[in-house]
Amino acid sequence: QAQEGGPGSLSFFSAEMNDRATRRLRLHNELHKVLERGELSLHYQAQVDIASRRVIGFEALMRWQHPELGFVSPVEFIPIAEESGVIVDMGAWALREACHQAKAWRDAGHGPLRMAVNLSARQFADDQLLDTVNAALAESGLPPGSLELEITESIAMQGLERTVTMLTALKKLGIALAMDDFGTGYSSLSYLKRFPLDALKVDQSFVRNITTDSGDAAITRAVVAMAHSFDMIVIAEGVETLQHLEFLAGLGCEDAQGYLFSKPLPAADAGAYLSRMAA
Ligand code: C2E
Ligand code: MG
Ligand code: MG
Ligand code: MG
Repeated sequence: QAQEGGPGSLSFFSAEMNDRATRRLRLHNELHKVLERGELSLHYQAQVDIASRRVIGFEALMRWQHPELGFVSPVEFIPIAEESGVIVDMGAWALREACHQAKAWRDAGHGPLRMAVNLSARQFADDQLLDTVNAALAESGLPPGSLELEITESIAMQGLERTVTMLTALKKLGIALAMDDFGTGYSSLSYLKRFPLDALKVDQSFVRNITTDSGDAAITRAVVAMAHSFDMIVIAEGVETLQHLEFLAGLGCEDAQGYLFSKPLPAADAGAYLSRMAA
C-alpha cells in the first residue's frame, strides 16, 4: 500500500512529475534548435599519461547553455536527443568541432594529442557514421591516428555482429577506439576479444572508492589485466585524488582523467592548461 508521506503527498508528487514532464518536453522541443542557435559547445578534459604525468589528450564533452534554463547537463539532454534522433546531427557537429580543435592545438605546436569523442547509440547505428567521421577528418586535416571514438558497453552489445563490423570499419580508417564506462554494463567477454579496441575506460564508480573498497580495487585490477592481455591500454575516469592516482599506477593503468588534473574546460582554457602543463 502506497502511504509514503501522508496527506497531500500524492498531489505534491504529481505536481513534481508534471514539472519534470514539462521540462523534458521543453528540452525535447528546443533541442533541434541548439545548433542553429549556437547554444551547444564542447568542453575538453585532459587525459594524462600516469608515468610521465604529461597531458596526452583530451575528451570532448558537450555543453548546452540554454538562454533561460541555464546550463543543462548532458546526462539530462543526451537521452532526450537520442530519443528524438537529433543526437545524430549534434554528434556529427561535435566530431567536426573536436577534430578542428585538435588540429588547431597541433598546429600551435602542442604535439600529437589524442582527441576522444563520445558516440551515441543512434550515431553508432547510423550507416553514415563512416562518412561523417571521414568528412570530419578530411575537413580538419587531423591525422586519423589522433582521433579516438568512445562507445559504451550497452551500445556495443546492441547488435554484436554489426558492432564487430562497424568497429572494424572504423578501425580501418586509422582511428583509435575505446570502450567507455567499462564495468557498468554487460559486456560479453567472448565478444570483447573480437572488438578491435585500443582502450578500456574504467568507470569512475570503481575509481571513486578504489583505495577503500577492496571489491572496487579487485574489479579494476581485473579490468587492467584483461585489457593488457587483449593488447589494450586502460584509461581511468574520475581520478580525483593523488591516492587514486598512486593506486592506479600500482595496478599498471596507463592513463588517467579526472578533477585531480582538470575539469572539462572551454577550448581557450584547455589550451592554456595545455601550455601550462607543457612548461
Ligand atoms: P562520460 O563520457 O563517461 O564522461 C565522463 C564524465 O565524467 C563527464 O561528465 C565528466 O565531466 C565527468 N568527470 C570527469 N572527471 C571527473 C571526476 O574526477 N569526478 C567526477 N565526479 N566526474 C568527473 P559530463 O561532461 O557531465 O558528461 C556526462 C556524460 O554525458 C558522458 O559520460 C557521456 O556519456 C555523455 N556525453 C557528454 N558529451 C557527449 C557527446 O558529445 N556525445 C555523446 N554521445 N555523449 C556525451
Ligand atoms: Mg566518454
Ligand atoms: Mg566514461
Ligand atoms: Mg562515465
